[in-house]
Amino acid sequence: MENEILVTRSSMPPMKEYVEEIQSIWGSHWLTNMGVKHNKFELMLKDYLGVTALSLFTNGHMALELAIQGMGLTGEIITTPFTFISTTHAIVRNGIKPVFCDINKNDYTMDVSKIESLITDKTTAIVPVHVYGNICNIEEIEKIAHKYKLKVIYDAAHTFGVRYKGQGIGSYGDASMFSFHASKVFNTIEGGAVCYTDEELGKNLYRLKNFGIKDEIEIDGIGANAKMNEFQAAMGICNLKYIENEIEKRGKVDRRYRENLNGIDGISLCHIREGVEANYSYFPVLFDKTLFGIGRDEIYNILKENKIFTRRYFYPLTSCAECYKGQFNPDETPVALSITNNILTLPMYADLSLEDVDRICKIILDSRN
Ligand SMILES: *Cc1c(COP(=O)(O)O)cnc(C)c1O
Repeated sequence: MENEILVTRSSMPPMKEYVEEIQSIWGSHWLTNMGVKHNKFELMLKDYLGVTALSLFTNGHMALELAIQGMGLTGEIITTPFTFISTTHAIVRNGIKPVFCDINKNDYTMDVSKIESLITDKTTAIVPVHVYGNICNIEEIEKIAHKYKLKVIYDAAHTFGVRYKGQGIGSYGDASMFSFHASKVFNTIEGGAVCYTDEELGKNLYRLKNFGIKDEIEIDGIGANAKMNEFQAAMGICNLKYIENEIEKRGKVDRRYRENLNGIDGISLCHIREGVEANYSYFPVLFDKTLFGIGRDEIYNILKENKIFTRRYFYPLTSCAECYKGQFNPDETPVALSITNNILTLPMYADLSLEDVDRICKIILDSRN
């Protein structure tokens, strides 16, 4: 019997290195609230990501939710329904109405030609998502934002370590959110960050993640509790040493998948924009049932019978979530609706063997007849 293959596998440093890193915490008894590890990790990350400033959070979701609050946004935000539910929730939980923009057929990011027609006098920002480690049409988004004086916050949860035209991806827009969840390319178990340039926003974020506390007696914001603790930061410090190697190994897995699946009738692979140094965070495959002969859900089941666990990701559209029932019309984003029903992400992690990649592809290709 073959071993099971999960869709992802968290990266972990050698245990010895983590134990060494956390040892000093037993001396200081300082466990959270912006301690030594937190501050060390923040500096290391700023340097690695090539950004001017960033604020660490207990997870990516709170990072995004508080970035929206910290900018004082209101009214409507233009965003994509082809994302993890977190993006939409972060907008709605701020009392803002998400306005859904359709996506491109070939890279699943926001279709920038559709943005302008969605802008109203209530629109205050655009929240695009860099999907699967592939990036949005940054130039166009920035142009539109400038023209209509809108803020741009990128959900960059999938793009840790990605560079575009030689520049860290977190340096684009007014802010970018990264997630360091266990399932991501880089993890701090749970964790996240907001990269920003405006120092005022930095101050707001610092307070909002700590209950809105300004100083010992003054509380001038309605904040949450979303601080990164010392053990998370220590995990980040250790994992960051291996990130280049991780991404390189993922690149090999990505190339092997492409060798097996490129040019097959009924299969489309994600197009990577020119100038992008990718991080290979996911391997999405889009099936055309008519051409391929068998549909996404059947392939998902056949792989599962072989103990290979894939993920219908993103599925369903966030605009179709039960909690938003009746509020949005998915027919207004027809491309996103078609992609969500036909896309499957295959297992992807640094230590996935190339033999396993070949086996996964063979099962997929053999399932046609
Ligand atoms: C993972 C993810 C988030 C949420 O990040 P957490 O760290 O899990 O809170 C938000 N948006 C996208 C696109 C994600 O993939």
